[in-house]
Amino acid sequence: MFSASAGPRYLGFVTGGTTPAALAGDWMTGVWDQNSVGSLDGAGQSLERETVGWLREMFGLPDEHRGAFVSGATASNMVGLAVAREWLGERAGVSPARDGTGALGDVRVLSGAAHSSVVKSLATLGLGRRALERVPTVDGRECVDVAALERAVREAGPCVVVANAGTVNTGDFDDLRAIAGLRERYPFWLHVDAAFGGFAALSRAHAHLVEGIGAADSVCVDLHKWLNVPYGSAVQFTRRPDLQAAVFRNDAAYLGPVDGTPDLVDLTPENSRRLRALAAWFALRAYGRDGHREIVERCTACARALGDAVEAVPGLRLLAPVRLNIVCFTLADRPDAGRSRRSRTGCRARRS
Ligand SMILES: *Cc1c(COP(=O)(O)O)cnc(C)c1O
Repeated sequence: MFSASAGPRYLGFVTGGTTPAALAGDWMTGVWDQNSVGSLDGAGQSLERETVGWLREMFGLPDEHRGAFVSGATASNMVGLAVAREWLGERAGVSPARDGTGALGDVRVLSGAAHSSVVKSLATLGLGRRALERVPTVDGRECVDVAALERAVREAGPCVVVANAGTVNTGDFDDLRAIAGLRERYPFWLHVDAAFGGFAALSRAHAHLVEGIGAADSVCVDLHKWLNVPYGSAVQFTRRPDLQAAVFRNDAAYLGPVDGTPDLVDLTPENSRRLRALAAWFALRAYGRDGHREIVERCTACARALGDAVEAVPGLRLLAPVRLNIVCFTLADRPDAGRSRRSRTGCRARRS
């Protein structure tokens, strides 16, 4: 039996449901069966670029950011890290997309509490799972210790930093402003995984959590989570679509040359592309920024209420303050409750 994951009483993970307008858009995508390849018919790509522009504005990213739809945050992280890989190549005078990853030598990817999909992406991209180096997090939290990160980037030389805006365990946020400050002083590609945390920008009470995100070189945001569009939908943003096209360009006589404004096919892993943007376009047209702010604020208010309720029950204990939409708690009288408190700080050790 399927779980009712789109229903109001579904409380597992941060997966989101679907709104009526998004569902209508998704159905129409099936009805029209669109393949969003520019040379077939530019309309789908125009709609996708318009939708990406609205999202960029919604998430407070600067105009230089270009983006495209992909299947989920894992794919979005993978694309961001592929562009980061090409950027490292540019600095070293090689092109990993052309010459292979071996041309790069060792690559260092630094992060506090990276999502598992980052590790998976590193394996996919030939950088290797071991390229990820866990930087210590602030004691008892999942956000990166910025002083430790500074030491690490100073020592590493050109590298990649994955900043986390909304961790899946406790909903913690790296200090993006401080990390943006480091980026001005040290040579690293800053990728921000804001799969669900990016939506904090919509809420006045939470927008501070993503302050500084505009400094990122690439950003991942999931749409099948908090935009509540059907699976699978996410957006990836980057300032360097030129490097992105170096990786994903699809040179084929029947599709025409890859020139100044790359076709979205030349920016994403897929060639044939479902017109995913349509569901998001419908949702954004129907509810706008205010409608989605309302969804986010209602959800965070529910999370806060649940957090308060948990705190009021003697047998339960919050493992982290409710910062956004995640309520992480345990049984206070579990025989291993003490251990679970230690493991909270120890999660760094366990994950490293
Ligand atoms: C959900 C999530 C991912 C992976 O997203 P998928 O859509 O499942 O591929 C990556 N990072 C974070 C922070 C997430 O919450």
